[in-house]
Amino acid sequence: MDSIKKRKITTKEYEAVGIDLGTTYSCVAVWLDEHQRVEIIHNDQGNRTTPSFVAFNNDQRLIGDAAKNQSATNPENTVFDAKRLIGRKFSDPVVQNDIMLWPFKVTSGVNDKPMITAKYKGQEKHFCAEEISSMVLIKMREVAEAYLGSPVKNAVVTVPAYFNDSQRKATIDAGAIAGLNVIRIINEPTAAAIAYGLDKRSDCEGNRNIFVFDLGGGTFDVSILTIKGDVFEVKATAGNTHLGGEDFDNRMVNYFVEEFKKKNNVDISGNPKSLRRLRTACERAKRILSFSFVTTVEVDALFMGIDFSSSITRAKFEEINIDFFIECMNIVDSCLRDSKIYKNDIDDIVLVGGSSRIPKVQDLLLEFFKGKELFMRINPDEAVAYGAAVQAAILSEGFKNVPNLVLRDVTPLSLGIEVTNEDIMDVVIPRNTSIPVKMTKIFYTAGDNCGVSFNVYEGERARASENNLLGSFALGYVSGPRGQPLEVCFSIDENGILTVTAKDISTGNMNAITITNDKERLSMLEIKKMIKEAKKYHVEDMKFLRKAKVMSALDSCVYNMKNTLKKKDVNLILSAQEIEKISNAITFAMNLLDKSNKEKKIDVLENHLEELESMSKHLISKTNNFIFL
Ligand code: ADP
Ligand code: MG
Repeated sequence: MDSIKKRKITTKEYEAVGIDLGTTYSCVAVWLDEHQRVEIIHNDQGNRTTPSFVAFNNDQRLIGDAAKNQSATNPENTVFDAKRLIGRKFSDPVVQNDIMLWPFKVTSGVNDKPMITAKYKGQEKHFCAEEISSMVLIKMREVAEAYLGSPVKNAVVTVPAYFNDSQRKATIDAGAIAGLNVIRIINEPTAAAIAYGLDKRSDCEGNRNIFVFDLGGGTFDVSILTIKGDVFEVKATAGNTHLGGEDFDNRMVNYFVEEFKKKNNVDISGNPKSLRRLRTACERAKRILSFSFVTTVEVDALFMGIDFSSSITRAKFEEINIDFFIECMNIVDSCLRDSKIYKNDIDDIVLVGGSSRIPKVQDLLLEFFKGKELFMRINPDEAVAYGAAVQAAILSEGFKNVPNLVLRDVTPLSLGIEVTNEDIMDVVIPRNTSIPVKMTKIFYTAGDNCGVSFNVYEGERARASENNLLGSFALGYVSGPRGQPLEVCFSIDENGILTVTAKDISTGNMNAITITNDKERLSMLEIKKMIKEAKKYHVEDMKFLRKAKVMSALDSCVYNMKNTLKKKDVNLILSAQEIEKISNAITFAMNLLDKSNKEKKIDVLENHLEELESMSKHLISKTNNFIFL
């Protein structure tokens, strides 16, 4: 395990980090100004990416590796995939389909908001996706703080290019609950392109077309970006939201389940714990096969005490997954077709996502793009956090050596309104307009003295009802004959978040209404409540850790002292009273350590540990001066 290096820094210098909040793994990075480079920060396990998992049990809350590692024994209370829920409604068919695949319970809350149920300290708790994501963000913040040695307040967080307004807002809310000020939300493919400094390549005149291939743990996303000067434009996106590394792990699991059946005549497919342990071993083997041609998979006492040991070659791994890899290539092909960009016109191909390390995937891509170079100088599962860290530095003050880049995204879809019920989409902001932007349009009332309401849509269809409804609001009653002018203003901020205001100008009534998708968003009150809860959980986590630490110290102290007392001739160096005193202290400690003893107050434990440690010191110094025969 790598040790976590601490650096001496000023708070100002490191005020912002970049966080890739992934569906299966998350990653945090920071720009080191004096070295002019990005550092991907290791977590407490020495890993550069952290599972986006949160688990609850009778004693504590676990986040990251610790949560993922215990998922086999506590499946109902181990929550993952929160990114699939964030900013969505419970009734969304996507959510309904995902629920069937999860071992944890999801129900419908207020306003059709999906709520996750988990048992924590014996009580049933309900969490929204923002809260679970905020717990992952807290972990990433702590990982960064342990490395930097100073508090982290600001972050750039990445989201998939296809995330809508509500999903982006919900991600910002998750940051707020985690005590982080999300200074910018950026698209994952854009972050990867920044990581490669593709904006600065000067060997190509005019526009650059970038193909971003992101094969992660549970999702596959391809995007075509064009970079025109300082503008990053997402031209097209495609993908499969249920295709990624976990599918490859599952194929390997099935392969070994069959082998186990053949060898031992027992079927382990109905045993979740055995499957989970086998899956962990398979994921490890899969990673090894990206740089070795063969590897072994070993699980002690996999089922009914039977050890499992076998090997798998890279060729076999490719054979059992080839249909998935071919599906990826079909999606690449269709994305290019939709965007009407020829593959010869792609200037750079960027590999993102841990699964794009798989050699067969790279071979197929090379073949498809006819040998064009694949960008993989940066670890693919770190490229997004890398770019986010660069963007965070650009947006922060105090960095002198940061690359000179003004990032601008564009609106992926046209935005407009339907005024009263005519089912006509009136575009206010056309697609591909670079943001931030503010545009106004004048509309006229259709009747005398009428009530006016607006539906806000995104999409390219002429009929409003065929586009995606973002929200509705009423301007209220507008007096006067038909044809009263109304000013409608659409503004999109740097994070791609839309605000619509409407004003009745003819009467001079400055009646403006702002819609910010409040229905799906958490209110300030709710966020405040959740921040308070997050702090409470943090205090509980700390308490648990303090107790676990003292218990383990007590346990090892008892163990050492018992061993010393067992030594022959100990009665020659210690008096009978001393031995009795030590034995009593050991018995008392063992009582405290007994699992059935629930009344374990932390200060009682710490006091006794202190007493025991001083006895142990005394005992060791005495016995060290005495040579046992
Ligand atoms: P996310 O999809 O959540 O953004 P990542 O991009 O980090 O996550 O991808 C995680 C996936 O990448 C996991 O399924 C993991 O097993 C896989 N992975 C990581 N390293 C390798 C490797 N060397 N070879 C093959 N797959 C890998
Ligand atoms: Mg990812």
